[in-house]
Amino acid sequence: MRLIEIYSNATKPVISFEVFPPKGEGIEYQQRVENLLLELTKLKKYKPSLISVTYGAGGSTREKTFDLVLKIKNELEIETMPHFTCVNFDKVQILDYVQKLESKGIKNILALRGDPPKGTEIFVAPENGFSHANELVEFIRSNTDLSVAVAGYPEKHPEAVSFQIDLFNLKRKITQGADVVFTQLFFDNNDFFKFYENLLNLNVNVPIIPGIMVVQSISQIDKIISLSGSKIPKDYLELLYKYKEDSEYIKQLGIEYAAKQVKQLIEYGVKGLHFYPLNKAYAVSSVLEMI
Ligand code: FAD
Repeated sequence: MRLIEIYSNATKPVISFEVFPPKGEGIEYQQRVENLLLELTKLKKYKPSLISVTYGAGGSTREKTFDLVLKIKNELEIETMPHFTCVNFDKVQILDYVQKLESKGIKNILALRGDPPKGTEIFVAPENGFSHANELVEFIRSNTDLSVAVAGYPEKHPEAVSFQIDLFNLKRKITQGADVVFTQLFFDNNDFFKFYENLLNLNVNVPIIPGIMVVQSISQIDKIISLSGSKIPKDYLELLYKYKEDSEYIKQLGIEYAAKQVKQLIEYGVKGLHFYPLNKAYAVSSVLEMI
C-alpha cells in the first residue's frame, strides 16, 4: 500500500519501524538478516503498517537495502519503504534504481539528500545529479508512481541557516510531491509540537510522523547526539548518567521515558509513530506494551 493510503485509511496512529541492513558479507550477512527478520517477526504483534530500511552513507548499502525491503515485503508481508539519497548517483542511475524498485512491487520511498561524504563539510551534487532532496522528490514523482516521504527536523537540520528557513525548505519538498514527513528522532516533545505548529502555519497538511528512539545504553547517547544532533533534556541526561553503572536500570529508564513521550504524542493527535528499534525488538516492544 502507498504511504498516502496507509495514513489516510488509518483510524489510530500508524506504527512504523526503521531498520538498517546488517553489516557483513556472505553467510555471516545472511545469518544477520535472518536474525533481523526474527526480531521483526516479534514486532509484527504490534501491527506495523510500514517498515523502512535505511540506505548506508554514500550509497554503501544500496543493494542490501534493495534486498531487505523485498524480503520484508515478501516474507513478512509488511509494507516497506527504502530510504534513498542523492549521494554518488546521477539521474540515469537514480532512474534505473527507482524503476527497479517499482518493478518489484515497492510502493514507497524516503527521498533524502544524504550527508556530505566523509571528510567533506559541504554537500556537492554529483555530476548530472541533485543538490537537495526536493529535486529528488520531484524527479521520482515525475518518473514513477512511488509514494514519497521526506525527512524533517524538529530541532532544525544542522546545516540550516535558521529554523524558519529549514521549514520553508521542508515545505518545498512537500509542494514538489512528498506525501509524508518522517522526523529526526527527538527527546523533547516540545520541539516536535513547535515544529508541527509552525508547519501548520505554513499550510502544510501532510502527516508529520515523529521519530522515537528508546535509549538502551550510555554509549548509545553519545552516538545519538553526534549522528543526529538531537539533544537530550538535562534532567533525563543527568538521571541516565547517575545510574550509568547499572545497565539494566538504564534500559528500564529508556523504556519508561519513551513510553511517556509516546503517550503524550498520541494525546496530541499524531497520525503515526516511527520507531528506531536498532534492529532489536525488546525495547520498542516494551514501550508498545506500556501504551
Ligand atoms: P534536504 O532536504 O536537501 O536538506 C538539507 C539541507 O539543505 C537543510 O539544511 C535544508 O534546510 C537545506 N535545503 C533543502 N532544500 C534546499 C534548497 N532547495 N535550497 C537551499 N537549501 C535547501 N541519511 C542516509 O545517508 N541514509 C538514510 O537512510 C537516512 N535516513 C534518514 C531518515 C530520517 C527520518 C532522517 C530525518 C534522516 C535520515 N538521513 C539518512 C539523514 C539525511 O540524509 C541527512 O540529515 C542529510 O544531511 C539531509 O538530508 P535531507 O533529505 O533532509 O536534505
